[in-house]
Amino acid sequence: MYNVAIVGGGPAGIFTALEITKLKPDWKVLLIEKGARIEKRKCLIREGLKKCPSCKTCGLLCGWGGAGAFSDGKLTLTPEVGGHLVDYMQYNEVEDLISYCDNIYLDHGATRTVFGTNRADFVDIEKAATLAELKLVHSPVRHLGTEKSLSVLKSMQDYLESRIDIINNEQVEELIIKDDTIKGFTTNKNNEYFADYVVVAPGREGADWLSQQFIKHKIEMVNNAVDVGVRVELPAAVMEPITSRLYESKLIYHAPTFGDEVRTFCMNPNGEVVNENYNGISTVNGHSYADKKTPNTNFALLVSKKFTEPFHEPIKYGQHIASLANMLSGGILVQRFGDLLDGRRSTPQRIKESIIQPTLECATPGDLSLVLPYRQLLSIIEMLYALDKIAPGVASRYTLLYGIEVKFYSARVLISNELETKGVKNLFAIGDGAGVTRGLMQASASGVHVARVITNRN
Ligand SMILES: Cc1cc2nc3c(=O)[nH]c(=O)nc-3n(C[C@H](O)[C@H](O)[C@H](O)COP(=O)(O)OP(=O)(O)OC[C@H]3O[C@@H](n4cnc5c(N)ncnc54)[C@H](O)[C@@H]3O)c2cc1C
Repeated sequence: MYNVAIVGGGPAGIFTALEITKLKPDWKVLLIEKGARIEKRKCLIREGLKKCPSCKTCGLLCGWGGAGAFSDGKLTLTPEVGGHLVDYMQYNEVEDLISYCDNIYLDHGATRTVFGTNRADFVDIEKAATLAELKLVHSPVRHLGTEKSLSVLKSMQDYLESRIDIINNEQVEELIIKDDTIKGFTTNKNNEYFADYVVVAPGREGADWLSQQFIKHKIEMVNNAVDVGVRVELPAAVMEPITSRLYESKLIYHAPTFGDEVRTFCMNPNGEVVNENYNGISTVNGHSYADKKTPNTNFALLVSKKFTEPFHEPIKYGQHIASLANMLSGGILVQRFGDLLDGRRSTPQRIKESIIQPTLECATPGDLSLVLPYRQLLSIIEMLYALDKIAPGVASRYTLLYGIEVKFYSARVLISNELETKGVKNLFAIGDGAGVTRGLMQASASGVHVARVITNRN
């Protein structure tokens, strides 16, 4: 019997454990993770395989450190981006939590470099953005780099290993709930674990599993917006005037035709586009590495759409669109912006003749207009033209668009300000999987918050 059992070893789960061990060193804590230990994590695509082999447990997304372990770890140091924690607590409380977590990252060896702190350095970008009807969100970023990111996570694993029970390669299957109170869970190895408190932090990878559990146990959820879009790849020189000063720029636009919000997300200067696998569905994402530079920059353009009654399955909606791209291309589809505008598919020959080559070599040249709904497609086109005003070249006919990028954090669990599920006592849902966060820092902050809530009750 544990005091606290944590499902998921991403930043949300790890920071829950770190804070509990600090506040209640004598508590029995379990952290269960369906992926491998950090040093055993492996992604064949990262090791050079051209096409995602759809591993049963995705090494890129699962394992100690969670989804962002292999990224270059950009820690956004503002409540403005990376999640919705401000919906559950005061803005300054989120700021304090972020600063607290940032110090923990530093204690475990994070780099000291922070980009975008001096507003005076980028007033010109802010002004140009305003004139293009784009909102530039100010977000200082601590940039860890790939090696640091992995060593910081390893240091946290080493620290926690002697203080709590960590189980890897075991997947939680069923939540055990009795009398509207969480008791524990069962796993795919036919084990049962019991705890006074359970914190579920399964990430976007486990968001669908979590929704299914909540539907089964009649735990209330609310529809989040569905974020569907493309990953844009262009010559690094096009974005350089912005990325050299801001590293990660968050730009928000309300596309004129439909009025939907389109935003840039996860910008990777000199990075590469990567293939992810969510339960058998191939989607696209981006990385940049400290040790490996490409001539390209990539970022996502995501269109947010919130559904109204009677539709309740935003995750399925995103999955369907991504599946359509998979069906047409065998995985990820890539199209030049010019071909999209000309109403024709891209071909290997047309891509070859371009001034930019795709970093995701396994992407199939095709036609995004056969996949994306008109609403999202038009909003993306309008956003590209707006971005072209502040970074000329974005709307070049050679700009590459990969589909589909979709964020499966769309069903938000109905939780209290303490992040406890409404209807099941002592069950807490945090991080990206609960639809509460969208980035490393707020996921970490959500973990610290629940750890404090739980330890305060005893
Ligand atoms: C390629 C990539 C690059 C990224 N780069 C950045 C970045 O630079 N900056 C940034 O802020 N964000 C980045 N992100 C987003 C960031 O990684 C996530 O926001 C963050 O990891 C969410 O933390 P989490 O703990 O909620 O979930 P996750 O990190 O997804 O961790 C959840 C964990 O739970 C495990 N799990 C799921 N279901 C179960 C189950 N049933 N039983 C047991 N274990 C389970 C999973 O295996 C996983 O390890 C990136 C994401 C990706 C994919």
